[in-house]
Amino acid sequence: SSNLMDGKRGLIMGLANDKSIAWGIARELAAHGAELAFSYQGEALKKRVEPLARQLGSDFVTECDVSDEASLDRLFETLRERWGTIDFVVHAIGFSDKNELRGRYVDTTPGNFRMTMDISVYSFTAVCQRAAALMPNGGSLLTLTYYGAERVMPHYNVMGVAKAALEASVRYIAEDLGKVGIRCNAISAGPIKTLAASGIGDFRYILKWNELNSPLRRNVTTEDVGKSALYLLSDLGSGVTGEVHHVDAGYHLVGMKAVDAPDI
Ligand code: NAD
Repeated sequence: SSNLMDGKRGLIMGLANDKSIAWGIARELAAHGAELAFSYQGEALKKRVEPLARQLGSDFVTECDVSDEASLDRLFETLRERWGTIDFVVHAIGFSDKNELRGRYVDTTPGNFRMTMDISVYSFTAVCQRAAALMPNGGSLLTLTYYGAERVMPHYNVMGVAKAALEASVRYIAEDLGKVGIRCNAISAGPIKTLAASGIGDFRYILKWNELNSPLRRNVTTEDVGKSALYLLSDLGSGVTGEVHHVDAGYHLVGMKAVDAPDI
């Protein structure tokens, strides 16, 4: 592998297991020389995340629940104590009550609406505020989004509304932090079978639909996402900020099912 990330240190948030998009990204970054810290939600995940981090040569693993400001403060204080500065952050976190990832969006409840926005949207801004303070020489911030922000997708509901707000926040953060050399982007990933995705109604159908109708006629993998993340987080992406980059086998450009696609 190349040394694209040699000398770069960064935080990976949202690793739950080896199916996580965060894992595909972390593996690609480590293969290109990055030094990684990991944050996970809740002590129960520690025993899963520690061995994965170790596989990538990292013993820097810290608990952080992004819905808790004090927990976020502790995470970034730990980073400051151990490393002083950082070069990048990957935010691969989203959450909504799975009872609202089916049925009608219009039936969403105020409690879950607020929680979904807090964990899936505000947390990225809260992370960027704290990360910027550790990036005196510039840096790169990355979050994960989905096409349900742009178009109505079955069952995505309140999460689609949250992703639309997340994508808008990427643009505002890119402007605010661009003047100090910090870039901020999102990857809009095609559907991938992860723990979070399994909460979405009819997810197998969505996967099959994307496989049959995307220009590349396949689904994407966490490795595909990892390779594009490497571009955005390394010097290869030096001129890119405020972008929502689709890593979805081209699905976002499709206006109508192609005639060669068999019925599903
Ligand atoms: P995942 O379940 O592996 O990861 C989701 C992570 O969010 C978990 O590690 C979970 O612990 C973490 N999380 C949830 N609430 C948290 C909290 N309060 N504090 C800290 N962490 C919290 O699933 P994934 O699919 O890898 O999801 C990563 C990101 O990718 C999410 O933003 C998701 O919306 C996005 N995404 C996923 C897909 C897909 O099809 N899987 C497609 C596009 C975008």
